[in-house]
Amino acid sequence: MKVTLHGVRGSIPAPLKNKEYKEKALEILHHFSHSSFSKTGDLKSFWQTLPPHLRYTAGGDTTCVSVVSDSGKTFVIDFGTGARSLGDDLVPKILSSKENFLLDVFITHTHWDHIQAIPFFKPIYFPNVTIRFHSPYQDLEDRLIRQMDKEYFPITFHSTSSKKEFHLFQPGDVLDLEDGNVQVEVHPLKHPGNSYAYKFIENNKRFIFATDAEFTGEDLEYIRGISTFFEKVELLVLDSQYTLDESFAKFDWGHTAYTMAVNIATQWKVKNLVLTHHEPAYDDKKVFGIWEEALEHKSHLQSSKVKIHLAREGMSFKI
Ligand SMILES: [Zn+2]
Ligand SMILES: [Zn+2]
Repeated sequence: MKVTLHGVRGSIPAPLKNKEYKEKALEILHHFSHSSFSKTGDLKSFWQTLPPHLRYTAGGDTTCVSVVSDSGKTFVIDFGTGARSLGDDLVPKILSSKENFLLDVFITHTHWDHIQAIPFFKPIYFPNVTIRFHSPYQDLEDRLIRQMDKEYFPITFHSTSSKKEFHLFQPGDVLDLEDGNVQVEVHPLKHPGNSYAYKFIENNKRFIFATDAEFTGEDLEYIRGISTFFEKVELLVLDSQYTLDESFAKFDWGHTAYTMAVNIATQWKVKNLVLTHHEPAYDDKKVFGIWEEALEHKSHLQSSKVKIHLAREGMSFKI
């Protein structure tokens, strides 16, 4: 399966500001003027020598993930603002589809940053699209109707042309998709108002998406208890919004420190950990700095074999 991150920012969109853009550009020009590439003019090779915070931006869109099965079927997790560009990408497939276009979507929870792009997700306006919402929330339909009330958006949820189905999907259930080739499971997370992790399994490869989630040192027994769901997965995209200091100051806010994310991914013998739900107040330098600190933290855990990645908008993983 192929997992793509369309939005990785937590809480609220945080686009690149002009001040940060200028600082990045000046830093890049500084690197260039002091490099041998200023004589050869080989810009592509020069680009590869830049530190990650200058080569990339983490991105400002909020949470949205797509999972594409080996047979080419797309599944969606959450509708943060990253879902707008995913929806645009799906439109040509919908237009060329001769049959009804079925889209299975999974909702972690209904905080704004996980649903706010539904009105801007173009597939909901196509009559040949059926969207199957899967979640443990019995009242999900009502929640989505409310967020598109006419006081907040000119088009109501059910006046959009697509068909919508709501399927209750609870911890302990196993959802068989694609003729049984893809299985999905769901697991509760500690977060104000609840949130749920989703696990996708195809050809014995396992991917888990787990945000918004608060894991602290006090939860070690709980973490060990839930390891049968989390352990030994190929890819875990995990909430790691906070630094360790912040996680103490913002105890009970529902997010995890990156040090804790590394600790528990090590405990669960995860192969690849992706740090996501970046704090909106942090610029790229700070976010990529957290990645470096997470790598440093891992180097002190002797038993840790986990490979640590930093979530960036548009990043894909094939497992
Ligand atoms: Zn969130
Ligand atoms: Zn939340």
